[in-house]
Amino acid sequence: MHSAPARSWVEISRSQLAANFRAVRDLVGPEVTIMPVVKADAYRHGAVEVARVLASEGARWLAVSNVEEAVTLRAAGIRARILVMADFLPAARTAFFEYQLTPVLHSLEDLRTLNQLAARRGQPMAYHLKIDTGMGRLGTRAHAEEICAAVLSAPAIQLEGLMTHFASVTDFGSSQTERQIQAFERIRQALQAGGLRPPWVHMASTGAIAYGRRDTWQNMVRPGHAIYGYVSPARGPAPPCLLQVKPALIWKASVLAVKQVEEGALIGYGGMFRAPQPMRIAVLAVGYADGLPHRLSNRGQVIIQNRRTRILGAVSMDLTTVDATEFPHLQPGDPVTLLGPASDGWLDAQEIARLAGTISYSVLCGISSRVKRLYVP
Ligand SMILES: *Cc1c(COP(=O)(O)O)cnc(C)c1O
Repeated sequence: MHSAPARSWVEISRSQLAANFRAVRDLVGPEVTIMPVVKADAYRHGAVEVARVLASEGARWLAVSNVEEAVTLRAAGIRARILVMADFLPAARTAFFEYQLTPVLHSLEDLRTLNQLAARRGQPMAYHLKIDTGMGRLGTRAHAEEICAAVLSAPAIQLEGLMTHFASVTDFGSSQTERQIQAFERIRQALQAGGLRPPWVHMASTGAIAYGRRDTWQNMVRPGHAIYGYVSPARGPAPPCLLQVKPALIWKASVLAVKQVEEGALIGYGGMFRAPQPMRIAVLAVGYADGLPHRLSNRGQVIIQNRRTRILGAVSMDLTTVDATEFPHLQPGDPVTLLGPASDGWLDAQEIARLAGTISYSVLCGISSRVKRLYVP
């Protein structure tokens, strides 16, 4: 076996990222522009590298959460349009002009502020306006007529996009998405009646794409999770998932030590696990400081030589102990897979999330900066 390149590392497949992007493109068709979401360092896949792959696949737009993320992309030479979805704090505002970023505005007050700023600088600025159609998070809850009036009284800036975000898009037992779509449509029509036709209209994240809510695709979609190879399972009477994507990230850790313990031995903090018979254990150089959820203590699995085995006792900050009884040849320096393929199928972020009582997004975003990142073709 090759010796491991680090204590813990992820291997990110460029070709799988590209294949996932193409799978979205093939599903939505050429009329719909894809704006991949690379916030949170591309769900920890590395925003710069991911942006480069997507740009080479033809992505013209990217979405991030905040200005700092956008500036990182610009500093790396990324020239795509960048939509900043959740940052219009006072300290961030001049960066929109300096780095050619596109803000999402969330209130009519934001509109007045940006209009003044653009007028003062004599610099045009396009923006996307987010409507809170019922998610109850960011976005304006103003009435259609007020929105229309506010847009018209901000002549120094240009309404380039109209957007909303869904709260329950994969829940087909709920009517919340339909109500959100209707609320959005009312506002779009009011703007249109006022002579405003923003060139981009977008609502759909991964769930709305994958489960074929075609009325939400409009002319732009915002997939995040799908780009990284995930579609969350749907609830209720859901139509089939139309999108075939695969995880682009595999997470591994090195074996630090292997040893034999006697029957009755206690393993790790709190003596959470007691060996029911003599066992061989392996201690891995990974813990919750690397993002392995503490909730996997005594219940998670890892993959050794293509087969699953159990996590024994508590996941600690830097170390995790696993059952190596069935792997007599395992030795220090060998790689163990925390997230990746096994002979009986993938151990993916979805499965880890289920065991840890969280969501797959949080598992991916939780992989810490201490984990080395390697890119593979
Ligand atoms: C994160 C985010 C997305 C992407 O969501 P996925 O479920 O990862 O596809 C799209 N739009 C907004 C506003 C977001 O915050």
